[in-house]
Amino acid sequence: MNRQNTAPALVVRVDRARCVGTGLCAGAAPADLALGEDGRARALRPATTDREGVTEAAELCPVEALAVHRVDTGEQIAPAW
Ligand code: SF4
Repeated sequence: MNRQNTAPALVVRVDRARCVGTGLCAGAAPADLALGEDGRARALRPATTDREGVTEAAELCPVEALAVHRVDTGEQIAPAW
């Protein structure tokens, strides 16, 4: 079975007021996050199933500007603290 088909959809929210533009998140999850023209991160799509990538991105962010939630339940997946 293709795991991508059963993985829960996740949404990544960026607190653009906090973002300091390191680009670490875009490196960890390049399909989901990129730096915008203003040098701050933005989500590239409304939902993703790349849990590993977006979790790593949220945990790498030095200013805790990223949060990952399940679309269906709203449960916060990352960061873990
Ligand atoms: S890792 Fe955090 S501070 Fe760096 S670009 Fe991403 S959201 Fe902004």
